Amino acid sequence: MHELEDLYREIILDHYRSPRNRGELAVPPAVRTEGFNPLCGDEIAVFLEADGDTITDIRIQGQGCSISQSSASMMSAAVKGKSIAHARELIKAFKGMMSMHESTLDSEDGATETDPAPPKIDMGELDALQGVVKFPTRIKCATLAWNTLAASLNEIEGTA
Ligand code: ZN
Repeated sequence: MHELEDLYREIILDHYRSPRNRGELAVPPAVRTEGFNPLCGDEIAVFLEADGDTITDIRIQGQGCSISQSSASMMSAAVKGKSIAHARELIKAFKGMMSMHESTLDSEDGATETDPAPPKIDMGELDALQGVVKFPTRIKCATLAWNTLAASLNEIEGTA
């Protein structure tokens, strides 16, 4: 039971029961990006609004397991009011945390990574999701919101 206790840490349950930044934003000026995890049936829609390099507002819609929805809630709280550059660092660090059992961090986007280690930044309460790594089938639940956020940032920077 220890592993399950790790997985459903109190902080994860808190975000699942009381999700932060729930709702939607007017599109435009916000962009709306959807993510879907067919392995588990998790759905996420991210509404993101930026002013220059700052994420001024973010809202989350979706349904699915507690891991996917609490990860989305934590993600929204972590990037709201922050810079787009900081959000991209968090995405990188979070995905690095989720792939720490793999021997190498492959760069599937074709970017040339000279430093294989994920950036050392303060993950705050996102560390609570670290226990998910022990359950490989749930990793896509945890990374869904972050992949969707990455797509949002690409869209908002493409239209800026
Ligand atoms: Zn899930």
